[in-house]
Amino acid sequence: MTKPPSDLTDPANWLPETRLVHGGTMRSGFAETSEALFLTQGYVYDSPEQAEERFKTESGGFIYSRYANPTVAMLEERMRLLEGAEAARATASGMAAVSASLMCFLKAGDHIVAAKALFGSCLYVVQDVLPRFGVEATLVDGRDLDAWRKAMRPNTRAVFFETPSNPCLELVDIAGVSRIAHEAGALVVVDNVFATPLHQRPLELGADVVVYSATKHIDGQGRVLGGLVLGSAKYISEQFHPYFKHTGSALSPFNAWVMLKSLETLPLRVRAQTETAARLADHMASATDRGLLRVIYPFRADHPQSELARRQMQAGSTLVSFEVAGGKAGAFRFLNALSIIRLSNNLGDAKSLITHPATTTHQRLKPELKAELGITDGLLRLSVGLEACDDLARDIDQALAALKL
Ligand SMILES: *Cc1c(COP(=O)(O)O)cnc(C)c1O
Repeated sequence: MTKPPSDLTDPANWLPETRLVHGGTMRSGFAETSEALFLTQGYVYDSPEQAEERFKTESGGFIYSRYANPTVAMLEERMRLLEGAEAARATASGMAAVSASLMCFLKAGDHIVAAKALFGSCLYVVQDVLPRFGVEATLVDGRDLDAWRKAMRPNTRAVFFETPSNPCLELVDIAGVSRIAHEAGALVVVDNVFATPLHQRPLELGADVVVYSATKHIDGQGRVLGGLVLGSAKYISEQFHPYFKHTGSALSPFNAWVMLKSLETLPLRVRAQTETAARLADHMASATDRGLLRVIYPFRADHPQSELARRQMQAGSTLVSFEVAGGKAGAFRFLNALSIIRLSNNLGDAKSLITHPATTTHQRLKPELKAELGITDGLLRLSVGLEACDDLARDIDQALAALKL
């Protein structure tokens, strides 16, 4: 056990589990135990003087729920405490977080460098949207520090990547890329969805901004969409907030309330899912004689970047990727034989979900890029849920047996 810090009135001295249960709670006059859901668009003022002051300072109360809302503010504060960031904003989806985190400060004439291995919609924002507004984009192999170094230009204002990446769980060296980016004067934005805030701390490794799709592990039960952006007080107040409040990507208070309650159980869920994922990865790796060509899991010694994984992550991932024999036909036969694991492109759910990236999430990619990213026709991405590990192993085993039929 870590020695308890002396001042327990300050949430900054609480351990993560405690921050996630109590952090950010604001009680109304009714002194409710559970966080209240404030379904309101607006707020009334006692006097015109108060309204004038509120608009001038944007403090001392709320103005309009596109700007801020008490339930959303509780979620933001709870996540801020978990991440150890100076400031946080919640958004309507993960993509609202990603796009606003970049659009809020990039302008025509700027340049962005991003890793090639990105969530599909993130790739669209970097490759299709930003260039339309005069922001040039260079995509690099995120694993290669030299490639990042060579891509930097005098007008490079941002670097963006996710690690581990979707779907092949490739890693980017957060500290290494942050050093290169900072020398070039660029802001480092990290999509930390696959690692979760519990298992990877980008801000401590040198990143400037962390974004999440809260749709994934933060909700964790497949219900509502949401996103988060965390960074310095200066970035949030001067760059993010003005753009965010006027462009309308505010999170619904209802969704914020669902996620606020979900955060209380985040460590329990993510720990269980990661343990099961690691066990399943080992289990599958021992089945290579039965139609499995490869298993990809960051904390396994056979992951090409396992050393980096152990350096920058506290644990593996809740996702395991693997390739079955027989290409698309083999993959489809495997998927059709599953009984417990469900087919879905979503992830981070209590239900184990599996997807065939080549025909779904990455269907649009050119064949060359698919090949470069290792997205073969036999590749499957499994998001591990909260079911009994042995049941999931049995489901995988019987689907592997179907490959042989
Ligand atoms: C899901 C996801 C997103 C987008 O989040 P939404 O909530 O679906 O908008 C972005 N990045 C990664 C890595 C994701 O998994």
